[in-house]
Amino acid sequence: MTAPTPLIAGNWKMNGLAAALSEAREVAAGVDGKGPRVALCPPVTLVSRMSEALKGSAVLLGGQDINAQESGAFTGDVSAEMLADAGARLVIVGHSERRAGYGETDAIVAAKALAAARGGLEPIICVGETLEQRKAGEALAVVTGQVRGSVPTALKPGTFAVAYEPVWAIGTGLTPTTPEIEEVHRAIRATLLEIFGTDGAKVPILYGGSVKPANAAEILHAAEVGGALVGGASLKAADFLAIVNAV
Ligand code: PEP
Repeated sequence: MTAPTPLIAGNWKMNGLAAALSEAREVAAGVDGKGPRVALCPPVTLVSRMSEALKGSAVLLGGQDINAQESGAFTGDVSAEMLADAGARLVIVGHSERRAGYGETDAIVAAKALAAARGGLEPIICVGETLEQRKAGEALAVVTGQVRGSVPTALKPGTFAVAYEPVWAIGTGLTPTTPEIEEVHRAIRATLLEIFGTDGAKVPILYGGSVKPANAAEILHAAEVGGALVGGASLKAADFLAIVNAV
């Protein structure tokens, strides 16, 4: 079975006013669609305007989170259907900043992943251990447990991605060694194969956590790494494009 097309997704988090759309335009101009799939996930205030900015380009638009419900009395939230209506094709779910800061459990993340599929979005389902868990030798158990709990068995491989993001590597400049990344990615792949049979090979497994131009090539060429989820370095088009071009 051929490996899934790599995906490089940029998570702008709570960053970016209208002026930042020039960075998205620069990314759009630098992506020809022949390499990896490329996505930008801006804050919700920029989703519609970024949809316009990316029109006609190969860059996909994503959201950073959704409510699992389709509509209703959920002040401040957006649904998968709303993001899709605004032009999004993907959505991040289960980011550690949501798990830790908003108490999102595996069950909530799984419900969001299902809601994304229902609304026509490709979920990027995030998992990752804390530093304490890694130091205690629990990284593989934690991460594979999160995969089992957060990836709904009803999803079709090829319509979603998993992102391994060690919590201690996000925004810190720290990264696991390449063998450490490969060990976790292999364990995630084995879990996906157990859940989905041979179709589990169709799921891209992204690495996220302090990916930057200087370390992108080594990380992206590691075994079972099928792309990257990029935070800080996705805010500058030149850095993000350097990561895209490192695939
Ligand atoms: C992220 O938040 O998904 C992330 C990977 O952030 P950073 O690249 O800044 O570590």
